[in-house]
Amino acid sequence: MFEIYQLPPVPEGDTIYRAAAAMHRALAGRVVTRFESVYPAVTRIAEDRPVVGRTIESVSARGKHLLITFSGGLVLRTHLRMNGSWHLYKTGVRWQRPARDMRVLVAADGVEAVGFNVPVAELLTARDLARHAQLSALGPDLLDPAFDPAEATRRMRASQRAAIGEALLNQRVLAGIGNVFKSEILFLAGLDPFTPVAALSDSDIERLVGIAREQLAANVMTRSQTLSSAIGRTTTRSLDPNKRLWVYGRGGKPCYRCGDPIEARKTGLDARLTYWCPRCQGGSAR
Ligand SMILES: [Zn+2]
Repeated sequence: MFEIYQLPPVPEGDTIYRAAAAMHRALAGRVVTRFESVYPAVTRIAEDRPVVGRTIESVSARGKHLLITFSGGLVLRTHLRMNGSWHLYKTGVRWQRPARDMRVLVAADGVEAVGFNVPVAELLTARDLARHAQLSALGPDLLDPAFDPAEATRRMRASQRAAIGEALLNQRVLAGIGNVFKSEILFLAGLDPFTPVAALSDSDIERLVGIAREQLAANVMTRSQTLSSAIGRTTTRSLDPNKRLWVYGRGGKPCYRCGDPIEARKTGLDARLTYWCPRCQGGSAR
């Protein structure tokens, strides 16, 4: 067993989902033999409610949050943001990252899950979890089998003035889309990323949400057995490794559909790049 979940610069829901699934396979049902964290708030709670000795019940993803649930109603929530990663090792195998980058560690029956540079970690009781502000604010999770399309449309409609590209990234509207899928989904839907939500019809929004779910689900399925990274992600279904994405990262290059150059523009406070084909995605109102 040797799996690494180093995230691309802007993590996508499918990556977190796969990391959670691999950790679940490796850890669920095992009893924790060692628990460490460099975060005082985490260790303080672990002193009152020891993690060692509890059984790991599940590892799951909620949006971009990764939750490890222990018996007795204790949950470790982590958020990987830009630089965090979870690695799985057999006990005794040399880590691929320096020990000083370890932020949290859960060891159980010969397996070590090590969170490197994980910037957000907290231990929660089931009660804390139920009223957790960030988690309860999350929009419907695109990878959740119980996904509610009507709720997704309602939340989309609540951000009428936002550009559709921004609304797709807002985890309070829909949980799971990062920067790569944002550009790809809008290309597949033929929508200009800068169109205000107000200018879209309900059927545009429903179609967009449908494409988003399909793309995330397809990428979880096809890569569930592989090491995670942005490299394997594909939205084109092309077998050519150079043609995995329609527009993301292809600024100035010819569109695979129409041949016009792909545009790229920095948007938002963190100047993330949006990629789109003005010809294929010019059909909607600006
Ligand atoms: Zn085009």
